[in-house]
Amino acid sequence: MQHNIPVDRLGPNGSAMASAVKSCVHCGFCLPACPTYQVLGQEMDSPRGRILLMKNVLEGTLSVQEAQPFVDRCLGCMACTTACPPDVPYGDLLILFRSYAENNRANGSILDTWLRQIVLEIMPYPARFRAAMLLGMFARSFKAVLPKKLATILDLLPSDVPTSNHIPDIIPAIGRKRARVALMQGCVQSVLAPAINEATVRVLSKNGVEVVIPRGQGCCGALTLHSGSLEKSRKLALRNLRVFPTDVDAVLTTAAGCGSGISEYEMLFNSTDDLTIARDFANRVQDVTVFLDELGLSHLPGPINLKKVAYHDACHLSHAQGVRDAPRRLMEQVPDVEVVNPSDGETCCGSAGIYNIEQPEIAEQLGARKAAKVIETGASVLVTTNIGCITQIESHLRVMNNKMPVMHVMEMLDNSYE
Ligand code: SF4
Ligand code: SF4
Repeated sequence: MQHNIPVDRLGPNGSAMASAVKSCVHCGFCLPACPTYQVLGQEMDSPRGRILLMKNVLEGTLSVQEAQPFVDRCLGCMACTTACPPDVPYGDLLILFRSYAENNRANGSILDTWLRQIVLEIMPYPARFRAAMLLGMFARSFKAVLPKKLATILDLLPSDVPTSNHIPDIIPAIGRKRARVALMQGCVQSVLAPAINEATVRVLSKNGVEVVIPRGQGCCGALTLHSGSLEKSRKLALRNLRVFPTDVDAVLTTAAGCGSGISEYEMLFNSTDDLTIARDFANRVQDVTVFLDELGLSHLPGPINLKKVAYHDACHLSHAQGVRDAPRRLMEQVPDVEVVNPSDGETCCGSAGIYNIEQPEIAEQLGARKAAKVIETGASVLVTTNIGCITQIESHLRVMNNKMPVMHVMEMLDNSYE
């Protein structure tokens, strides 16, 4: 296939986009792995189709507006990258293309524009997000008269906003100090499920890890990055680059989406003065399950009242960061627990950051399918590593009248220490 992408006219990211497009050999191995291709069944909603659309836009033979609906429907789940033999950097291409297209974005409906603003201006800020959640819970009473898209989003809200307990700035290691880490609390997770960070701190401390909670930290920028807002993401990331200490063994995340977003910092800060500091920071960031698995549990878990536990691979941990075994190895140390996998383990649950807000119909289909596969395992609890997956699968289990608890790996370990 011939390529005529005018790299020089596309700014600093032109050559990265052109090289990603050129690396696709159109073999189609990614198609069966792609959730939107599975649901919609058309080439343009597959990774190969989207790469061709992006190529045509970059070459100037197709307008952004024509390609936009297909690119917008991409979950960014990265299942295609796992399936791709020549390792096309599809994730980088998607983010850079979305950023390029942002300025030429067609004006959507007022509702779509408003929802986009929620993502960019509310979700990354815990205080604003908490207020929006309370408003949303109130608005649920008027669901019947609201647009369907908005009503579907309100269904995702939990029945209440949990209260969070204050976590001190430094939590000492219990017993011999084996490591010192800084914990990234996350924006959405700190509001929707503060218990995850509280459990994480207890588990780390019991395993001889001193935990520092840097004050002034905020959103890592992943939500806005995956929407193509590079400028906004850099602003959010810079705040963390300034407040996180360097005298720690690792910076830990408890949300797969954050870890995945931070692993993109090299691309985000490419050609900026902050590239070195951003790259150093990203190199110190680890998912908490990877860190604990490598360190080893010094405090062995005790039995819990569970026999069969299903583990859901969050796409941003498995496909985007290649982490599959560490969480399972930790869970398997809880006595008498069998860890089982839903049969469609490689497929996204439809949460994908803000996807269930922007594309609720497809997200609903994927969420329902995932909940059914989880129920099929016969497990009594579902464990995962990402707040988006927890919210999405839990809400679909409830729609199916299933009361299965859904929790983070750290919460399961914490329970086993009680
Ligand atoms: S598997 Fe990779 S190379 Fe093959 S069509 Fe998909 S993106 Fe292109
Ligand atoms: S990121 Fe996910 S939804 Fe998007 S093209 Fe790849 S597999 Fe399909």
